[in-house]
Amino acid sequence: MAADEMIEGTPTIHLLDASEAMKIAAGEVVERPASVVKELVENSLDAGATRVRIEVTSDPQRITRITVIDDGIGMNRADARLAFLPHATSKIRSLSDLAGTFSLGFRGEALASIAAVAQVTVVTRCRGEGCETATRVVARGGEILEVEDAGGPAGTTVVVEDLFFNTPARQKFLKSLPTELAQLTGALEALAISHPSVVLQFLQNGRQRLATQRGPDLLETVRAIFGDEVAGDLIPVTADHPLVRVAGYVSTPFSPRKTPSRILVSINGRPVFSRQILRAIRQGYGTLLPSHTYPTAFLDLRIDPSRVDVNVHPTKRHVRIGKELEILMVIADAVRESLSREDLTPPVRGGETAGARITPEPFPSHSPVRAHVGIPEGSTAVQESSPVSARLTDRRLRQTELSTWGSPGRFSVGPGPSGLPTGMAGEESRVPDLEVIGQVGGTYILARTRGDDLVLIDQHAAHERILYDQVAGQRDARHISQELLVPVILRESPREAALLRDMARLLEERGFLVEEFGRDTFLVRGIPSVLGRLDDASSIQDLLGDIFSGEVDTPEETAEQITRSIACKGAIKAGTACTPEQCQRLVAQLRLTGNPYTCPHGRPTMVSFSRSALDALFKRI
Ligand code: ADP
Ligand code: MG
Repeated sequence: MAADEMIEGTPTIHLLDASEAMKIAAGEVVERPASVVKELVENSLDAGATRVRIEVTSDPQRITRITVIDDGIGMNRADARLAFLPHATSKIRSLSDLAGTFSLGFRGEALASIAAVAQVTVVTRCRGEGCETATRVVARGGEILEVEDAGGPAGTTVVVEDLFFNTPARQKFLKSLPTELAQLTGALEALAISHPSVVLQFLQNGRQRLATQRGPDLLETVRAIFGDEVAGDLIPVTADHPLVRVAGYVSTPFSPRKTPSRILVSINGRPVFSRQILRAIRQGYGTLLPSHTYPTAFLDLRIDPSRVDVNVHPTKRHVRIGKELEILMVIADAVRESLSREDLTPPVRGGETAGARITPEPFPSHSPVRAHVGIPEGSTAVQESSPVSARLTDRRLRQTELSTWGSPGRFSVGPGPSGLPTGMAGEESRVPDLEVIGQVGGTYILARTRGDDLVLIDQHAAHERILYDQVAGQRDARHISQELLVPVILRESPREAALLRDMARLLEERGFLVEEFGRDTFLVRGIPSVLGRLDDASSIQDLLGDIFSGEVDTPEETAEQITRSIACKGAIKAGTACTPEQCQRLVAQLRLTGNPYTCPHGRPTMVSFSRSALDALFKRI
């Protein structure tokens, strides 16, 4: 067959026109407003700016305009035009240059990508000779509309409007305004931490949301963003190794967090995300940290750029590191060494040691609403929350594992005249009557039905279900809120503050009384009464952290997340010994819930073994 015969026929493949191709490529770089801010601020930092001001304008639905103003080197007219072309960059000439590059950008994609899917106005003026006037360039949907002289100071201002106006699919997948704002603020926090010598200021609709000072020390930047409490809990970390220089701070192990959201790592000034580095930092803590928790850490690593491949993904958040294992070991060692120099006796705060809340929690035994919400009464097993007593209890629990409290006849809530445990007769439930036999491992309640089926109940899951129904079913917030004797002050990061501000009304509907007072500082006057004595700052912060960690979008999802978090935090923990009475009450309450079979997260609350299943297990049939 001749070659030209092979290419005959109508082709189905065609080349996309340039602007369509650019729109598609832009999808990787410009995912959401936060990516626009990240790219523009990175350009400002690359331009040697000492001050960067970010202004975001929003209507109730979405971010409508993003402005980034810097005092960097600026651009002349020719460059201002060229900057909009794909693959136009002043930062490298060939890929091999990357090996010696510290700039955040180098792909020459950001401005072209943003301009492909938005309207971008750049006003820029360079410094020095031939830079008397500024240039204004307007581009929209990939086309340059205007290039003209303009007035303006040295430096660059970029305004982005109508983001995703020509990519409706992308627009549709944007999350709610608070989620987008939180993402955006998070990106700024990371950039601010990685550039402590730059003054970063962020305003939303004219209100200042974040402002760092130009400081020689990262600690002041941390303080400006996360507050005194976080900054005060930090220990310096340094290491000087031929492969890597480590500088920064890690927290004491006393206020561990459920998510790694406050571990901000940069490599050569570039914020990066790396599970391996997270693991190395945790490794440095050894057994000081409870499992599944994370410290706070702000670390900058200086690594020979030829060993760091930043060209893994257009957003450059993920990197590949040569000699990674050695470098990870240096990080872990540096963290370990810093911690070992510190006196890590838990500080005593308000009569409780800081580490106490990571040990088993007793029932909220003095909450005035306990009877009302059905939390078992008179917890005797764990009355104190000092780590010592909790640990003793733990050991006691281990000894009694698999034992029971003997015959049900000894229960004070034993079978009543009807043969049913008191308090249960006559109530409608899909679950058969249950009589508690005992508790295993401080975690599972052992019960039997009248038909002699054996039922095991997960006490935490069960209590979670009970509280969930209670909180979700409550319409009048006043009844479910408990005023705090001493209001708790929370200092949030700008990102968390944005989230908190936005969910204030929903939190209130669930029993939180929260007021903003001062920048990113909140006063908590009341908490949902089902939380009982979890009324200290760290418990409340922990709960909010749990709420913030949910992937939520709509107000309904947020409300649901809040309800679940309250139920989860308020519920009795696994590993808490309960009296037979408490167990019996818990089971009775569970029977009356809407869905007694699963906890709000979908885990089972109970499993049962029928009499015949037991017989089969013992080969009796
Ligand atoms: P990259 O940052 O990868 O080079 P961009 O598309 O982000 O690509 O920017 C293209 C070029 O425009 C940059 O290389 C730089 O020369 C110029 N530029 C962009 N933003 C600024 C700014 N704020 N100040 C000075 N020059 C800028
Ligand atoms: Mg760039």
